[in-house]
Amino acid sequence: MGGNARSSRIWKGEHPADAVFDSAAALASSPNSEFGLGYFILGSIQRSMPLTDKFGRQITDLRVSVTDRCNFRCVYCRSADPENHMAEHALLEWDEYERLVRILVGMGIRKVRVTGGEPLVRPGVEDFVARLKALGVQDISMTTNGHLLAERCDQLVAAGLNRINISLDSLNREKFEKVTRTKTFDQVLAGIEAAQASPLRPVKVNAVLVRGLNDDEVEAFAEFAREKDIVMRFIEFMPLDADRAWTRDMVVPAAEVHRRISARWPLIPVVHERSETARKYRFADGGGEIGLIAPVTQPFCGHCSRIRLTADGKLRTCLFSKEDHDLKSLLRSGMGDREIGDAIVAMVQTKEKSHRINEPDFVPPSRTMVYIGG
Ligand code: SAM
Repeated sequence: MGGNARSSRIWKGEHPADAVFDSAAALASSPNSEFGLGYFILGSIQRSMPLTDKFGRQITDLRVSVTDRCNFRCVYCRSADPENHMAEHALLEWDEYERLVRILVGMGIRKVRVTGGEPLVRPGVEDFVARLKALGVQDISMTTNGHLLAERCDQLVAAGLNRINISLDSLNREKFEKVTRTKTFDQVLAGIEAAQASPLRPVKVNAVLVRGLNDDEVEAFAEFAREKDIVMRFIEFMPLDADRAWTRDMVVPAAEVHRRISARWPLIPVVHERSETARKYRFADGGGEIGLIAPVTQPFCGHCSRIRLTADGKLRTCLFSKEDHDLKSLLRSGMGDREIGDAIVAMVQTKEKSHRINEPDFVPPSRTMVYIGG
């Protein structure tokens, strides 16, 4: 990596998104483009076009948080309090999720990632995956801590799950226990093995690197990727932790990870979709892959294709949105699908140009990661 982040990237296919982004930004800066007349014009165009924000970014990916509960309490994510979660009645019902996804599929959503909290702690998640499949979602994935995965993997595959990401922040048992505040190291490794032996192969393993906590394990993770023939993804620590401990010097830049791994094993860039969060590399001499996710040091907002649905039915247009949009009350108000679709079009017009982590006046969102869905 290093140098100019844009010119060093490689993309799949043609995508004149930069020009669209710039001209749409100009359009959006005109007085009536966001609210009032322009809002309705954009809204009515959207009914016959894919869901697109005011910067011309097409929204094709939905992250659905099915619970804010988690059986882990990772130090960079949740507070230590195991009971720190919303009341059951605050959460969307499965039928409500299904209805919203049906509406969104009709508006061009092609990929759905099921997440949380920990998605495998909510009973019925396999059935939800099957419902997503029946709705015609082209790509169904899940992010999990892997604790309950070994025994659930076959059911998830049978339901139609296409891909899986498993979080693992240390290969050292004691450190894993310190990070997750659980004693579940063996179960998580078993979950990775089970997924890797299933049609979900190649498994993606996510590690959030935090300076002084697990940044000494970069090379060990790379070796793990090579040995197991998995995709090892390094995520920069973001200011979304419950304890508000994040500081910039705790972030391990993706460029450093690339430099350290390629010093031992030459890396070759792998083609990626422009809207993908990870910059991907394979090893010149063998199996396994590396993914670098650099929201802090190399933001990728200009090509963001994602919106998020929280477990309590709020639509978020960015991980770092200051506000979210209440879909649950619309669902429960008796509104029709078409009106809800119109409301979603309007919500998407408020999608932020960028997350602004690097701006001097940046303020972290009031919802932390576990209440948004990663
Ligand atoms: N429970 C599941 C899991 O552990 O993967 C899914 C939810 S978790 C919130 C989703 C992802 O967000 C995980 O890969 C986790 O490591 C990541 N994450 C949580 N807090 C983060 C933070 N402050 N910065 C970067 N990534 C974070």
